[in-house]
Amino acid sequence: MRMLSDLLLFDAHCDTVTRLSLNGLKSGNFNQEPHNSIGILFQLAASGRRRIMQAFALCMHPFWIPGKLPSQVSPEDLVSVYFTFLEQAGDHARHCTSRSEAKQAWTDGKIACFLTIEGLGEAAGTSIERIIRLYELGVRWAGPVWNHNNSIAAGVDPDQEDGGLTAFGKTAVDEMERLGMGIDVSHMSDKSFWDCLERIRKRGLLLASHSNARALCGHRRNLTDAQIRAVSAAGGVIGITFHRPFLNNHSANASISDILAHIDHIAAVGGIQCVGIGSDFDGTDELACGIRDASDLPLLVEQLLQHNYSEEDIRLILGGNWLRIFSECRM
Ligand SMILES: [Zn+2]
Repeated sequence: MRMLSDLLLFDAHCDTVTRLSLNGLKSGNFNQEPHNSIGILFQLAASGRRRIMQAFALCMHPFWIPGKLPSQVSPEDLVSVYFTFLEQAGDHARHCTSRSEAKQAWTDGKIACFLTIEGLGEAAGTSIERIIRLYELGVRWAGPVWNHNNSIAAGVDPDQEDGGLTAFGKTAVDEMERLGMGIDVSHMSDKSFWDCLERIRKRGLLLASHSNARALCGHRRNLTDAQIRAVSAAGGVIGITFHRPFLNNHSANASISDILAHIDHIAAVGGIQCVGIGSDFDGTDELACGIRDASDLPLLVEQLLQHNYSEEDIRLILGGNWLRIFSECRM
């Protein structure tokens, strides 16, 4: 299997921290985690792959797995799980908050890791100071909402009213922009999305860490063509996600060819510069058929080559575009 030499692999979303906090880090053996993307990444790094970057989402929603996540988990608790995990990873991984730190990590043979949030409203409440504190803790982009409405914005939950950004949400978005914290629109309601877009002035801050194209799969977690164009025009990137229900309206048979179809579509609508990967490898039990974990990423590269994507385009999709975004956030 061919894999382009020195190809940067940048995955914009995983739920490893949430899984580890649910398990209390008890096993200490990350390879035993189902679909554990990071365990596989370690193997890739150990086999000599030099440039890997992984976003670790702190998912604040207490009902992410009903009844399992203690309701009083604070973002600091999850940050400390993340750092314990990195400590246990020893030689393999390093926390990074800037492009230069990531480059140094790669030079030193380590995976570059950084923090993001799903559900900034749950993490910060209505406190701007909390948002600043999270940035100081290393969070470099944040999704204002998970699925449910919170202090900042409305999420994609169809049973809740789509009021868009709240009054505090507008102030919160302004502060994120001031800090240079990326604003992740995955999980946002349509009105929240457009409210954010209207609010932001700085290029490259708007992103969708794990969402696909709604034109191909009608799930509301996916982006309409107008939204894809808007993210692209704002200098942002969209992470194609491998969760079957977001790939195909008949999700049971969604496969790697559907991943290709979403890449084709988003590239056609928004341009190649807005396409990235946001796998959700360990956030789902319904991965696309034919792709088990990060060790199957070479299959995707192979498919892209067969679909006549140039080496340059593949480098952008697998990581180059995300690295551009990561650099745009003020670090
Ligand atoms: Zn998610």
